[in-house]
Amino acid sequence: MKIGLNAGHTLTGPGSGAVGMLTESIETRRVSQALTQMFEAAGCEVADCTVERASSQGAYLSAAVEMANRQDLDWFISVHFNSDAARRGQGVEVYTYKGRQYPDAVAVCEEIAALGFKNRGVKEGTGLYVIRKTKAKAMLIEVCFVNDPDASVYQEKFDEICRAIAAAVMSSGAAYAPLPPSGNAAGQKPDASSAAAKKKRYVKVVWPKLSVRRSLSWDASAVCGVVQKDEVFTVVEGPIAVGNGRMYRLKSGLFITAAEKYVRAYEK
Ligand SMILES: [Zn+2]
Repeated sequence: MKIGLNAGHTLTGPGSGAVGMLTESIETRRVSQALTQMFEAAGCEVADCTVERASSQGAYLSAAVEMANRQDLDWFISVHFNSDAARRGQGVEVYTYKGRQYPDAVAVCEEIAALGFKNRGVKEGTGLYVIRKTKAKAMLIEVCFVNDPDASVYQEKFDEICRAIAAAVMSSGAAYAPLPPSGNAAGQKPDASSAAAKKKRYVKVVWPKLSVRRSLSWDASAVCGVVQKDEVFTVVEGPIAVGNGRMYRLKSGLFITAAEKYVRAYEK
């Protein structure tokens, strides 16, 4: 999966963003940098579509779109922060072409809202140049408002917010994580389909370091990251038989061994 990331606005001068308790053009870069690390750690390719300086707002926009359209992207994501004259605005919102309710875009709103922000939802963004002119599927995220109450929550939960965005984009990326077969060689059904209860399933790493994989394969080429002891992940499917072993599919779309020597599965 290849993601084009645009830290919204130029850094200074024409095309720079909102200023309140937070300075938009600085925060969009902080978020983009954190997202780049997270996407790359998960095996995604990131194309930087950020523009540092431009002669005008229009020049900034066309430069960003030009960078995005030079590549074959699965997602173009532009990061922004919201502002309003009354300084009373609150919450996260995402703009898409014709307001399409892409699962990833809906998930970005839900996951950020879960951290203590109002969910303003996925909105019609056809009027926005970077949405209308980019060839790839595009979303513009207004993470939150640049003034309080949002600004303080944002400062406090910066890492969680970035992780929420990364997880939302990767969890439903079909191009990234191929859906595992509905059964397996032995004809067993994955446990997820029989889960009647609303309990969520988790897996905790009990080994110093473990690989996570981008596909149902034990091959070294499938490894796309390393997780540490005591880290906990949400399980969406499994155990799934893979060769002589078994794996869980995680919410991120990645796979991890299901062997009890390495991980402990539980419900909550
Ligand atoms: Zn903006």
